[in-house]
Amino acid sequence: MSSPALSRVEIYDTTLRDGSQQVGLDLTVEDKLRAAAALDALGVDVVEGGWPGSNPKDKEFFARAAEIPWRNAQLAAFGATRRPNRPADGDPDLQTLLVANTPIVTLVGKAWTLHVDEALRTSREENLAMIADSARFFAGEHRRVVFDAEHFFDGYAADRGYALDCLAAAAEAGADTLALCDTNGGTLPDDIVRVVRDVLGAFPSLRVGVHCHNDSACAVANSLVAVGEGATHVQGAANGYGERCGNADLFAVIAGLELKREHELLPPGRLAALASTAREIAELANLPFDAKQPYVGSSAFATKAGLHASAIARRPDAYSHVDPSKVGNRSHVLVSELAGRSNVLVKAAELGLDLSSDPELATSVLEEIKDAEHRGYAFEAADASFELLVRRVAGRGAGQSWPSWFDLEGYRVVIEKSNGTDRSEAIVRLLLGDQRVVAVGEGVGPVHALDQALRKALSELYPQLASIHLVDYKVRILDGRAATSAVTRVMLTSADHDGEWTTVGVSDDIVTASWEALADGISYGLLRAGAEALVPAGAAP
Ligand SMILES: [Zn+2]
Repeated sequence: MSSPALSRVEIYDTTLRDGSQQVGLDLTVEDKLRAAAALDALGVDVVEGGWPGSNPKDKEFFARAAEIPWRNAQLAAFGATRRPNRPADGDPDLQTLLVANTPIVTLVGKAWTLHVDEALRTSREENLAMIADSARFFAGEHRRVVFDAEHFFDGYAADRGYALDCLAAAAEAGADTLALCDTNGGTLPDDIVRVVRDVLGAFPSLRVGVHCHNDSACAVANSLVAVGEGATHVQGAANGYGERCGNADLFAVIAGLELKREHELLPPGRLAALASTAREIAELANLPFDAKQPYVGSSAFATKAGLHASAIARRPDAYSHVDPSKVGNRSHVLVSELAGRSNVLVKAAELGLDLSSDPELATSVLEEIKDAEHRGYAFEAADASFELLVRRVAGRGAGQSWPSWFDLEGYRVVIEKSNGTDRSEAIVRLLLGDQRVVAVGEGVGPVHALDQALRKALSELYPQLASIHLVDYKVRILDGRAATSAVTRVMLTSADHDGEWTTVGVSDDIVTASWEALADGISYGLLRAGAEALVPAGAAP
């Protein structure tokens, strides 16, 4: 390494530009600013805000981003090299990029002869001139220039000499970073290692990095091995967002390098914000958060333990690859019918409820769970319903009822279809202590209408409800449990600012099952929020 600054690995986020190419991901300017703020707070080095030449939304983003004091990140604007056979200073897209007024300009250029010949349809010399002129233009404007060598690995395989010439053109014209892009995402780790090594040898005084796509499921691995080889710049997107199979998941790259390779990428202590940042960006993107996402997903450290439950409680490090708290996540033991007593004890302890000192209570809880599971309940993924059940049983054992936030007197739902539109109306009657509240809700279906009515009835007494929302609603029909009719199981996931929880309801009737899951979901949310139960212990039925 030629300088100490070059030995530190730089994290370059492209969620707002390349990541937003993902199907179904559409961020408003407001969303983009909030996502950028989250990434800045996490502590990435560069946030690429977008392509100001490609749409007015990105242009507006840069205008507004310029007003914000960024704590850790520098902003980059992205654009292509100048058009063929035109001077750089007369190119309207380069002008737009200049006006975005970012400290970093990332220029994407062709590095594969096939693309120069067939897509660009210009001479190979002209492509080199396009790269050099564009880099020189921005270096002359005192911008830091990152050169994104598009399709670099395919280009290298087709014509190594020309691919390196493209990098040299950018380097000689003032680019300080060469990002080798695996644009088609098909390169495997051993090829990444070989090519990165060659490029590092050819450009020892420049920052060399990678931009990997995940089409062969190797984007994170490719990024890690590139750094292992000496690359000091990694591009990727939050939660692996991106077109087709996505970009490298920046969070997995950061966690891997910090926890397993002793790189210091984020400011001290910020790694623990990884899971909450991942979730926040998923919410802004309005995309379901993948429970299986490495490091940050809700199942990333969940074990269906069975006989191993007590062993896991004793030595958690024996059953997970890193300490989940380091990335702001936590471990879970999944409760299941097969698991038995030790599993239930461990699960309860995880929730802060000690059942081990009260064998009688532990037996009652276990019996209740077995009975419920026999009727079709599934607590494995419904932690919140499990916790409420344990608390109810414990309360009963202590000669009182567990305090509740509301009691249902009754509800009525009307389902209507007219002129091709579905509309449901729900009337919910609740008892809140000695107060009786009736509320009406409307929705596109009966469950939505019930949710609306329940919220309306409770909103005045529990302002905490405003931050609790529904994330997911799953219905499964279980057969073979009842001889004459099928049983419906509803799994409902709710969330607040700090995380999400799942509840379960079971009934012959889908609306009843949904109500059960809904009521548990709201109750648990209020418990989490520390809302005082207005129905005192002992008064509930
Ligand atoms: Zn890309």
